[in-house]
Amino acid sequence: KMSEKGDIALIGLAVMGQNLILNMNDHGFTVVAFNRTVSKVEEFMKNEAKGTKVIGATSMENMVSLLKKPRRVMLLVKAGQAVDDFIAKIEKGDIIIDGGNSEYGDTNRRCKELAAKGMLYVGSGVSGGEDGARYGPSLMPGGSPEAWPHVKDIFQSISAKVGKEPCCDWVGPEGAGHFVKMVHNGIEYGDMQLICEAYHLMKDVLGMTQDEMADVFDDWNKGELESFLIEISRDILRFKDSDGKYLLDKIRDTAGQKGTGKWTAISALEYGVPVSLIAEAVFARCLSAMQGERIEASKQIKGPATTKYTGDKKEFINDIKYALYASKIVSYAQGFMLLREAAKELNWKLNMGGIALMWRGGCIIRSVFLGNIKQAFDKKPDLSNLLLDDFFKGEIQKCQTSWRKVVATAVTLGVPTPAFSTALAFFDGYRSARLPANMLQAQRDYFGAHTYELLDNPGKFIHTNWTGHG
Ligand code: NAP
Repeated sequence: KMSEKGDIALIGLAVMGQNLILNMNDHGFTVVAFNRTVSKVEEFMKNEAKGTKVIGATSMENMVSLLKKPRRVMLLVKAGQAVDDFIAKIEKGDIIIDGGNSEYGDTNRRCKELAAKGMLYVGSGVSGGEDGARYGPSLMPGGSPEAWPHVKDIFQSISAKVGKEPCCDWVGPEGAGHFVKMVHNGIEYGDMQLICEAYHLMKDVLGMTQDEMADVFDDWNKGELESFLIEISRDILRFKDSDGKYLLDKIRDTAGQKGTGKWTAISALEYGVPVSLIAEAVFARCLSAMQGERIEASKQIKGPATTKYTGDKKEFINDIKYALYASKIVSYAQGFMLLREAAKELNWKLNMGGIALMWRGGCIIRSVFLGNIKQAFDKKPDLSNLLLDDFFKGEIQKCQTSWRKVVATAVTLGVPTPAFSTALAFFDGYRSARLPANMLQAQRDYFGAHTYELLDNPGKFIHTNWTGHG
């Protein structure tokens, strides 16, 4: 008797894989499930997948034989060697999709290697954590364009939606999907750091209680800053442990990281794009991790006598909101600058508005704000910089005085705001027709004969004998 064949196979039955399978099943797709440790397939079939149309496979060969053509195999395994190992074993698949957090360089390579074997490869960013995977993630697929018509239906069905629009579209060739996911994660680092700085100022400069801060976040979540991360920060502030005390206050202030923020910063350096806010957010995590050294230094090095603000508290809370908002605009402008430069270097055509829409829902950085970014690219698809869009120009203008006041106050009181500060420094540099790099060029020419150009004769490189010595 012929049993029903699977629409897609999924390898990797950890939390992400299991949840994506159940999500696909909810949308009417028949999924063949497999895992390196085969006993996990049986467990999954007996528990989470009980009563679904999911088919458990007993081996790789069995898995492939259970698939309709074109045979689609999706991997949700640990990034790195595990992906290469599975690809090597999938001999008869037609389309391989990697949904893990792979480095985009690996995806570029795999795409080419598989094309040479006549197979199609897709590297897809998946964001939204466990819940996203189960009920609607943001999906950022890229790779062999011929694969897209074969995965579009499944992907757009299971993805998050904003209104009726799926938060999933074709990103671009080769590792473009994973590159965009990497930048998403970098922006996530930035957004989280900005929220931490706002919290720090409210706590130490304004001396607010956690309930008061939660109310502020609740209020912010009704306006321009409405977003998943603001919402969960509000809930975190309100959360009390079993002993009735706030849990947040007891958590060790040392941040971990898995690498995607660092990769974004490294790639910004490689492509020469000043993505300063994300880099500062990564460094802020590094500094937080040096807890022992910080505690020792805190005993030896003194800052200003007080960290307390004496002005109008309500007004300053509003200033912090605007500092956060303006810094966030800068961060996204920098992220899109990186996407644009990478696309140019790698000869990719990236759909910027589509990327904003993919991030609008489902993922960790989902927000109302990304709807404004989508609109900016709808108005002008080749917009060179978000800071030059009329809407964002107006918004930053609205925030500017508050933003400067917050950074100046933090500096005066000795409370670190690396992300707010670097955003403002970038903003002031970006809007400067002249920077002091003339001095820098002169120095380079002085000690290294690196030459310089004159303002009124660009393109002609001159060397000067600055000392008069031979
Ligand atoms: P994970 O802990 O990253 O990976 C576990 C899965 O990988 C298991 O199925 C495991 O098989 C398999 N695996 C590990 N090493 C292997 C190897 N050397 N050879 C073959 N299989 C191997 O699981 P996850 O958290 O569900 O994440 C899966 C992927 O999605 C990762 O790339 C992750 O970065 C990405 N991701 C995760 C999240 C999240 O919120 N967790 C969000 C977005 C993306 P065994 O059962 O046999 O050990």
